[in-house]
Amino acid sequence: MRIENEILLDYSDVLIRPKRSTLTSRKDVDLERKFVFRNYTPDFPENIEDEHYHGVPIMASNMDGVGTFAMATELAKQGIFTCLVKTYSKEELTDFFNNANHDITSSVAMSIGTSNADYDKFVQVYARVGDKLKYLCIDVANGYSEAFVSHVSNIRNIYPHIVIIAGNVVTADQTQELILNGADIIKVGIGPGSVCTTRIQTGVGYPQLSAIIECADAAHGLGGHVIADGGCTCPGDVAKAFAAGADFVMLGGMLAGHDEGGGEVINRAFKTGEIHYDTGEEVVEAKQFVKFYGMSSDAANTKHFGGLKDYRSSEGREVLVTYRGAVSNTIQNILGGIRSTCTYVGASTLKQLTKCTTFVRVNNQFNKTYESSTTKM
Ligand code: 5GP
Repeated sequence: MRIENEILLDYSDVLIRPKRSTLTSRKDVDLERKFVFRNYTPDFPENIEDEHYHGVPIMASNMDGVGTFAMATELAKQGIFTCLVKTYSKEELTDFFNNANHDITSSVAMSIGTSNADYDKFVQVYARVGDKLKYLCIDVANGYSEAFVSHVSNIRNIYPHIVIIAGNVVTADQTQELILNGADIIKVGIGPGSVCTTRIQTGVGYPQLSAIIECADAAHGLGGHVIADGGCTCPGDVAKAFAAGADFVMLGGMLAGHDEGGGEVINRAFKTGEIHYDTGEEVVEAKQFVKFYGMSSDAANTKHFGGLKDYRSSEGREVLVTYRGAVSNTIQNILGGIRSTCTYVGASTLKQLTKCTTFVRVNNQFNKTYESSTTKM
């Protein structure tokens, strides 16, 4: 046993220090990025940057209620990326990729795990849709196994024309291992997710801000890229993830509860504890929710696999999130926040944000005076 004494940090442990800036408006901030991937060989390499990636590097997570076709279609309008849930059938995927336009297919990944069935599904979909399927997200809870690395390496050898996203890991060594074995983009995050219980069930995890800093440094040294996956609770956290060096930021909970997720809207009524001034009756408030759950929760296993296998425990929870209507409003709020971060530190592009950032460690992140207030306006 060994203990590392250096304190590692989460988003809530830091703030970004403001700096002198010549930017006059948030409108001037460019949130689009272009990336050239390390291991991907495009079929038509004339225009390298266009063949690789161009967009606003936020990603919808491959979770139920988030990584849906409807979400992908809507987010692509803003240049935002979606990793589709693993559970779409080969027919559904074929239909989607064959019928979606280029703007959409260039912002969407099919997701698989390491099972033979998932691999067969990918092979068959790729055979039917060809290069319309450009991104493959190979996603497991624990990206540290040898078998996972060989799986990534085998797929890279057979499919040079696919951009491979692989994870999840949280340290430099395994980031490098996956990149050297053919992955282009590494998904970083073990345990930070809003509906994740890995840290409670297993005691395993790594503070997310430090994980991003460490993995981004390792990946960039090799020409690879990283996704900060999980743990963002507000636009400020997304900005901190980019500032820490993330190339992409993946969101689950922040994009849950919207129409595009396709979840059932649940109506609930609550006694507010107030008495109506005129009638003397108890005030009841109606609220709308949508179910949201971790992809290794009991709820997900029951829905997709008929229950948890007896040697596994659930590492995710199920919650009700407030129904929030169309996702476009939420996206506007997130992008507005990041633009504002950039103006505070003098970054005219998202690319410059990390160079312009000094994090300060804090004891208090924000003022919570009215957080538990029960009186609503
Ligand atoms: P969020 O943005 O909600 O904080 O985190 C989303 C991320 O949590 C996902 O992209 C995925 O990496 C992770 N995640 C999703 N479901 C589960 C789960 O059931 N267990 C764990 N450990 N992580 C999960």
